[in-house]
Amino acid sequence: MNKIPDWIKERIEILRSMKLWLFIIIFAIGLIPCVILSNILMNSYTRKAVDIRTANIANQLHIISDHLITYKYLQVNSSESIDAELSQLSTLYNGRILIIDQDLRVVKDTYGTSQNKIIVSQEVIKAFKGETISNYDDTDGYIEISMPIVENNTLEDGTVESKILGVMLTSVSTDTINDTSDRLKDVSRTVNYLVAVVLLVIALSASLILTAPLKRLNTAISDVKEGYASNPVMVKDYLETERISEAFNSVYSRMKMLDDSRQEFVANVSHELKTPMTSMKVLADSLLVQEDAPAELYREFMGDITNEIDRENKIISDLLSLVKMDKTSSELSISEVDINSLIELILKRLRPIARKKDVEIEFISMRQVTAMVDEVKISQVITNLVENAIKYNKENGSVSVTLDADHQYFKIIVADTGIGIPEESMDHIFERFYRVDKSHSREIGGTGLGLAITRSAVIMHRGSIVVESEVDEGTTFTVRIPLVYVVA
Ligand code: ADP
Repeated sequence: MNKIPDWIKERIEILRSMKLWLFIIIFAIGLIPCVILSNILMNSYTRKAVDIRTANIANQLHIISDHLITYKYLQVNSSESIDAELSQLSTLYNGRILIIDQDLRVVKDTYGTSQNKIIVSQEVIKAFKGETISNYDDTDGYIEISMPIVENNTLEDGTVESKILGVMLTSVSTDTINDTSDRLKDVSRTVNYLVAVVLLVIALSASLILTAPLKRLNTAISDVKEGYASNPVMVKDYLETERISEAFNSVYSRMKMLDDSRQEFVANVSHELKTPMTSMKVLADSLLVQEDAPAELYREFMGDITNEIDRENKIISDLLSLVKMDKTSSELSISEVDINSLIELILKRLRPIARKKDVEIEFISMRQVTAMVDEVKISQVITNLVENAIKYNKENGSVSVTLDADHQYFKIIVADTGIGIPEESMDHIFERFYRVDKSHSREIGGTGLGLAITRSAVIMHRGSIVVESEVDEGTTFTVRIPLVYVVA
């Protein structure tokens, strides 16, 4: 297929301009009725003038017809006064009058050219039948009237006998009507031109004024986009521009928030990754400065360095699962999962760790649950919550995991009898790298990413996670996830 050249594209583009359409609409709405109205007026003037002219001539012809009978013109074929009357009428209306007798012979032609000729035409025949016919020919500009010459005789019994003695065939020019209508047309054209010019100015200013708020909105958004301004955009002229401004501001502040949190995230990542490095360097340096450091010291320091490497590894793998979670939020690998067995498996894996801390774990299954979920992600959720419940527990504490379901959701409650979370930290524990007690968490191998990963996984399943906690009493996390994942 041929590619459309750029210059054509630019021309087409302008057709999508609101300013252009406003201009066209205002201009057309003003001008079209004006032109239509003047045309209607012109036509009705011409029709009316022709009707009046026809009626006037018909009247005159009636009078002449009576005179023709009185003077027995059709029998004697001459009368000075009638000839004068006929020529006066034909001059007055710039027309021609033919008088035709019963033998269809022209007895009088005011032009004198058809005298004594025989005329057989539809109009003449019809007129002999008693009809008066009038026609207006607007292309050649004349009115034609054919009228019977009727003699009325009153009989002895009082009845009136009508006899058609001949026909008057008249054609008169409508030049004067046409002249007037041409002059009126000129006037109306001039008026239309004037109206068009005025409308042009009105349409142009109205389209500029009406689209000005949009232009202002565009400039304000561009300024923010280019970085010249960071103030919120607000163009209140129209309800629509106000709504767009508000929508833009909320998108902008969300983007800004995302940008800030990304920056903070990068700063946090760098800091978290640097800490084990610094420790390793300190340990290695202290070994290097001691010339004859004993083998036990080496072993001890190397052990510490290995711990730091493990920590670094854990941070990196947590970061990777978090990033993966963000990237593939639409790519869950959903399958039917037996949640009871999944929890039992996880608890089996975690029991040895709990035993080391003298923490008891119990699983309370209210019912058998199978759900359509991403098995890997849901097991990450359960593992993180139970691991935390063990990590932040007290000696001889306990953890209970309860599984329940209704017809729509399944619910996992992880409750511990641990150290609890202070009120002011409750809003932050799901943030990346947030830890209530940084040094304690570090000591026990926390990265501050576990709950962030957990929350992402729950949200991906369109579920919810809530926490309740009492310092020194314990913490309860409740996760609710739909039994069937519905693709949006
Ligand atoms: P971490 O790797 O530090 O455990 P998490 O994101 O899993 O990171 O948890 C964030 C913080 O929330 C923890 O550092 C801890 O202070 C607090 N926390 C999480 N779970 C519990 C719990 N069950 N009891 C008490 N505090 C908890």
